Amino acid sequence: MFGLELEKLLDVQEEYRRVEDYQGATVRWCSGCGDNSILTAVQRLLRDEQIPPEKAVFISGIGCSSRFPHYMNAYGFHAVHGRALPIAEGVKIRRPDLHVFVNMGDGDCFSIGTAHWIHAIRYNMNMVVMVHDNEVYGLTKKQVSPTSPRGLRTNTTPYGAPLEGLNPLTVTLGITNVSFVANAVEWMPDVLYQIIRQGFHHKGLAFIRILQRCPTYLPHLFDPIIHDPNKLLILTHENGIQLDPELAKIYKNQMEHDPADIHKARELASSLDPVPIGILYRNENVPTYDELRRPKRQVTLEMRKAALEKQFDKFGVNPV
Ligand code: SF4
Ligand code: MG
Repeated sequence: MFGLELEKLLDVQEEYRRVEDYQGATVRWCSGCGDNSILTAVQRLLRDEQIPPEKAVFISGIGCSSRFPHYMNAYGFHAVHGRALPIAEGVKIRRPDLHVFVNMGDGDCFSIGTAHWIHAIRYNMNMVVMVHDNEVYGLTKKQVSPTSPRGLRTNTTPYGAPLEGLNPLTVTLGITNVSFVANAVEWMPDVLYQIIRQGFHHKGLAFIRILQRCPTYLPHLFDPIIHDPNKLLILTHENGIQLDPELAKIYKNQMEHDPADIHKARELASSLDPVPIGILYRNENVPTYDELRRPKRQVTLEMRKAALEKQFDKFGVNPV
């Protein structure tokens, strides 16, 4: 009745998904929690990529950040402490058509989940892994975490953390088959968004460590790097992130870094002052486990049944 062109236009409008279409339950993080910024960036990504909610799955462990799947209108699995990655791998191997996202905290990934973290990097399955690193256990009320800086007073280290914090970037860059490593801060939303989007388009496991404020338990932890922009080193590249001209006036400490250079990536990753922000490393040529394990030929139901019958025949007892 309106003509084909107008009807087509109306169809497109009807199908278009807005950010609101990806919002799940009412968010219960503390006011000002940096997790909110990460959630917004991810919802924006799904909107911009127009991913159908039924084609995305969010998998988390245990911790404040692990409430993430509840807040997304998509499939989700709020799993067991430290075990988000093996569950994500299981999902990906059976359902390669799904976009798999993993959200974990620093305690979750770098302590109880360490073995899974290392092997997930080696397996290099196609997924986006975001570690919300607030350098403390927030959900269990301010206990020292593997990334807590030395001297940090927490409820379990009242005289100050005795050890240097673990550097997840240098560790990840040392694991066999690593293919994508980035570092972000949640208070630079545009840069955070660019990094997550590049991780989403990466073929393989995109490991993104995000420094995240916990205003409830460590309200001043990141003050030095928030108040002094020169404490951040922004890594720019035509294949990495690009800084908005207005932001570039504030964050003047920039460096052109080619993410293909793993040696430079390792050197940059070891710097605590300034903190490198951007894509440290990317290599699309690393094989992914899901590709290696995917059957090369189509197995039909009949073929499965025949194979099963053949196995049963081996154990059949024939009357003499
Ligand atoms: Fe966020 Fe900290 Fe509150 Fe947890 S305790 S929700 S990390 S502000
Ligand atoms: Mg934490």
